[in-house]
Amino acid sequence: MTDITFEESTYSLLEGETVLEGLIRNGVQVPNGCRAGACQACVMQAQEGELPRNSQAGLKNTQQAQGLFLSCQCKPSNPLTIGFTDQGKSRTLAKVKDKENLSAQVLRVRLEKVLDFRPGQYLNIWHGDPEKPLVRSYSIASIPKLEDFIELHIKIIPNGRFSRWAADAMEPGAELNIQGALGNCFYVADDPHRPLLFIGIGTGLAPLYGILRDALLQGHQGKISLVLGAREPDGFYLRRELADLQRDYPQLNVNFVCQSFSNYPNDIGNTDLYQFVKEQFPSTKGTKIYLCGGDTFVRKMKKQIFLSGASMADIHADAFLPCS
Ligand SMILES: Cc1cc2nc3c(=O)[nH]c(=O)nc-3n(C[C@H](O)[C@H](O)[C@H](O)COP(=O)(O)OP(=O)(O)OC[C@H]3O[C@@H](n4cnc5c(N)ncnc54)[C@H](O)[C@@H]3O)c2cc1C
Repeated sequence: MTDITFEESTYSLLEGETVLEGLIRNGVQVPNGCRAGACQACVMQAQEGELPRNSQAGLKNTQQAQGLFLSCQCKPSNPLTIGFTDQGKSRTLAKVKDKENLSAQVLRVRLEKVLDFRPGQYLNIWHGDPEKPLVRSYSIASIPKLEDFIELHIKIIPNGRFSRWAADAMEPGAELNIQGALGNCFYVADDPHRPLLFIGIGTGLAPLYGILRDALLQGHQGKISLVLGAREPDGFYLRRELADLQRDYPQLNVNFVCQSFSNYPNDIGNTDLYQFVKEQFPSTKGTKIYLCGGDTFVRKMKKQIFLSGASMADIHADAFLPCS
């Protein structure tokens, strides 16, 4: 058992327990989201003691140097004295500019551009009771140089606490408490001639749409393939916008791969996404890859892509882990 001291109280962690779990078990409210080290909502700061290395994975060097760590990943083997960090609390209010359904299942929300971001990064929205907020992460589809808003694509989940509220009750003018931008899944113009391969499912298109347009805007010349997967043809959205991009940029090829039959003339129907990628991209060596969407999809596709030759350093991924 390891002791952690927080605001002058000391708590003993149970075997295998994280700092986040231990604090919550003892009645301390710690904001948190995915509990998998992705959303960074649970970031805290160590004042004394040695942090396990993995509890700082994904944080910037400057944050690591300040002792910031992800409490959901932290299982210390030595006593720690910890506190909240101003950085963790640093949030901004952003007004909802508009909202619109992009499909029956996807809501587009545009917020005032109140923070700096790279297309493809994500932000956290803090919602509800400030003492016990819901924290939800959403990826950014807009391009700051072109567009005067932050665009999010939110999958409407029938019993989803945040997405249902956003679809039913959130109105333009509402103020959202946001934190960000976070994440490293964005375009870097280090080699404009390299092939790029974007693969996504569902609202994984949100970051991909941002990164793809950013790459085009920055003059990427190499071949760009966007492969989107869905069970049914109505699982796709932004079809017209993607067709327009494909028309305007000859280096871009977009594929809609559908598990079931599709009436859309250019869809690839009755096809498994993983099989399609295997056949169309037998070697991914030297290709820069972006994978976005549900956690299971990202893990499985990442493995497949790695086995087809791409180096891990070239695989950028955003896994939409469900929040606890
Ligand atoms: C880094 C990151 C980026 C993300 N970006 C996006 C994004 O751009 N767009 C987006 O729509 N979501 C995104 N997510 C997921 C998002 O943060 C929420 O988890 C999701 O919107 C569900 O929140 P909710 O409150 O509506 O549902 P909850 O109340 O949290 O969950 C309700 C039920 O739905 C299940 N559930 C949760 N997520 C899903 C899902 N995706 N599909 C089906 N069932 C689900 C839960 O297990 C639970 O049973 C991202 C997550 C992460 C970690």
